[in-house]
Amino acid sequence: MSDAQRRIDDGAPGEQPSTGGADGSDSDSDSGNDEFEPVQVFPEAEEMDLRPGADNCYKCSTCDTNCPVAEVDDEFPGPKFQGPEQWRLKRQDDHDIDDSVMKCSNCMRCDSACPSSVPLSQMHNTARAEYVEENMSKFSREYLRNRLLANYRRLAPLASMFPRTANVVMGLSVTKWLGEKTLGITSEREFPEFATETFREWWTDRGGAKVENEDKRIAYFHGCYSNYNTSEVAKALVRVYEHFGYEVMVPEQSCSGTPMFANGMLEDARRAAETNVRELAAAIEDGAAVIASCSSCSMSIRQEYPELFDFEDTETVAANTWDAVEYLRVHEDLTGALEDTAVGDEFDELAYHAPCHSRNQGLDGQTIEVMDAIDGIDAQDVGDSCSGISGTYGWKAENYETSMKIGEEMFEHMDAAEAETGLTECPTCSMQMEHGTGYEIKHTLEVLEAALGGDRAESGAGSGSNADAGTTTATESN
Ligand code: SF4
Ligand code: SF4
Repeated sequence: MSDAQRRIDDGAPGEQPSTGGADGSDSDSDSGNDEFEPVQVFPEAEEMDLRPGADNCYKCSTCDTNCPVAEVDDEFPGPKFQGPEQWRLKRQDDHDIDDSVMKCSNCMRCDSACPSSVPLSQMHNTARAEYVEENMSKFSREYLRNRLLANYRRLAPLASMFPRTANVVMGLSVTKWLGEKTLGITSEREFPEFATETFREWWTDRGGAKVENEDKRIAYFHGCYSNYNTSEVAKALVRVYEHFGYEVMVPEQSCSGTPMFANGMLEDARRAAETNVRELAAAIEDGAAVIASCSSCSMSIRQEYPELFDFEDTETVAANTWDAVEYLRVHEDLTGALEDTAVGDEFDELAYHAPCHSRNQGLDGQTIEVMDAIDGIDAQDVGDSCSGISGTYGWKAENYETSMKIGEEMFEHMDAAEAETGLTECPTCSMQMEHGTGYEIKHTLEVLEAALGGDRAESGAGSGSNADAGTTTATESN
């Protein structure tokens, strides 16, 4: 469970309760993590100093044994070296950051594995940023490629202007070949397709929220992928929340910063986070809780923002941000609402993979519990292994083989599940699941929408009793 998951902060609307662990367990506000906040030992220094945190490491190597990259790549020195040992070296003689930090996928599994709450991912993110700034040539192919991958939000709007053409061009073998030869983006994977209508276009055409309810408001952080690629996931979130009588707000937003952290582009991430914190704080001020449909987006806002940035309201936004299913589990009788519901054949047998970033937030058990409440669904958890793609990591040609080796266990368990549809809450895990097994992959919200009757919710005739709590302002047929 992340620090953000544990954080308790009285008074703000929609905020996570002290019992807000997704598994229903008590949160522990006195957990030792708070003691290990980075300490600025040189107050006049502008940069964060993580070296004192390194002293909390007692070299048990638990982080190393939980690192999926170290498990399959003998040359990767592992999180203990990347984190505390590097910072100790820096204390001695301002040692250069080792280039192996770029081989860390930022899965953050080491963070939750460490029994001494060493701020490993904070150390890795800071070290990567320092390495990129000081040691990586800004004219190198690696830098240009990483900058492109980290700034998907800048490229996606261009492709979304002509989505059908973009999909054809991106699917050509010659495009993939060129991508590998010129930029080092693997040609083994299929580029994700762009939606013919972005979520925000749909939202505008629809006329915005169909439910007004000042007592139940959410601000939806859809992120880049649900806007430009899987808009059906974002639409499902809107319909599911409106079914429960929530007024959905869709604030201005930037990338969560996840791919920027993973590529050492900390200044890019800072700019994106500044926009997000400002806009989401305003929504919280209006009584909304922040809801994310992507597990990496919620992870970023809850944990990485407070660890790395100190904008006004960073902590408030982190404390009021939730995963989409988690929020409904805590604030609504979700399993009760799902009783006696059923879904079509499309969803009857599901192989579920909990993304590492859900696992880190303590949310790895909730999807199976929720699926079990729906009649006729047989959902199997395929285990706790990493999918191996970790955002942009598995898109880099030099990481492709490692990424697939990491994913092998998940692929085998999916095959053994003998389902036809995979289920997850992370967009890049879904790419890896599809790539490794050929399964069609869905988001949990799409199953909930099917079970709760998205169209009925859309027209204001939601079957859940909570739908009556809000004022339905319009109907639509799409
Ligand atoms: S798990 Fe924590 S205490 Fe153990 S070696 Fe890794 S950083 Fe150090
Ligand atoms: S974030 Fe993941 S890949 Fe990176 S060191 Fe930690 S466990 Fe290994």
